[in-house]
Amino acid sequence: MRFDLITIFPEFFAGPLGHGIVRRAQETGLIQVHVQDLREFAHDRHRTVDDRPFGGGEGMVLKPEPLFEAVEGLLGRSVGDAQHRAAPDARTAIVLMSAAGKLFRQETARRLAGLDRVVLICGRYEGVDERVAEFLATDEISVGDYVLSGGELPAAIILDAVTRLLPGALGNEASVENESFRGAGGEAQESGQALCGGEVLLDFPHYTRPADFRGWKVPEVLISGHHAEVAKWRKQAALEKTRRNRPDLPAAGAHATGEP
Ligand code: SAH
Repeated sequence: MRFDLITIFPEFFAGPLGHGIVRRAQETGLIQVHVQDLREFAHDRHRTVDDRPFGGGEGMVLKPEPLFEAVEGLLGRSVGDAQHRAAPDARTAIVLMSAAGKLFRQETARRLAGLDRVVLICGRYEGVDERVAEFLATDEISVGDYVLSGGELPAAIILDAVTRLLPGALGNEASVENESFRGAGGEAQESGQALCGGEVLLDFPHYTRPADFRGWKVPEVLISGHHAEVAKWRKQAALEKTRRNRPDLPAAGAHATGEP
């Protein structure tokens, strides 16, 4: 799988790309990552990629030409114009990072992990000319209900979440299956609606040695060696934690207790 990151701060990604699972995935060839400096597609010698907003107001806006040309240069094909729009390639996502985008969820990560190529466009300043969202991007994605100063951190988040879902990315394949959000699925979930009868469970609590730390003890059942009891405890603890921390998620059994 190939990722392209389009940014005015290419050096930003040295950290996120250089560690752990994401680093190993590059070393083993599971993913290929190309960081594209947007300024290479500027048209003037000052390498300008932003301009003042039409209609007035604060801040600067990233211009459309360098972004369209950067994506077209990377993909090796034109996306066309208002008269002739080229059909998008279903195996490639062109994702615009945007606080005003659709919320990124585990299900979104799963969908992107099934593609061949993901191009991530990082905004800066006041944002990006809207024609990028309308006519260039296939997805406009927000990583959460808060405003960051640039799309680089969100892009790194998406790259990380997608990469660890690729078969072979984690040392232990089973770990993906037991993680938080494993029940999340389908388009309804991705668009933020609760699935009827669906179940989204967060991870169960983990403990390691020492069994007694400053008098705070690990739940007895986990030390019992009784696998069925451990599994039961974990399921129950995951359920309780999901209800406590994320009452908005459609956790299994919530209906039975009359909770939403
Ligand atoms: N004026 C915009 C914020 C611009 S922040 C607004 O009010 O919505 C500058 C850039 O940071 C954005 O173009 C986007 O690429 C990125 N960004 C900020 N918050 C983000 C979020 N929650 N998710 C994804 N990208 C975000």
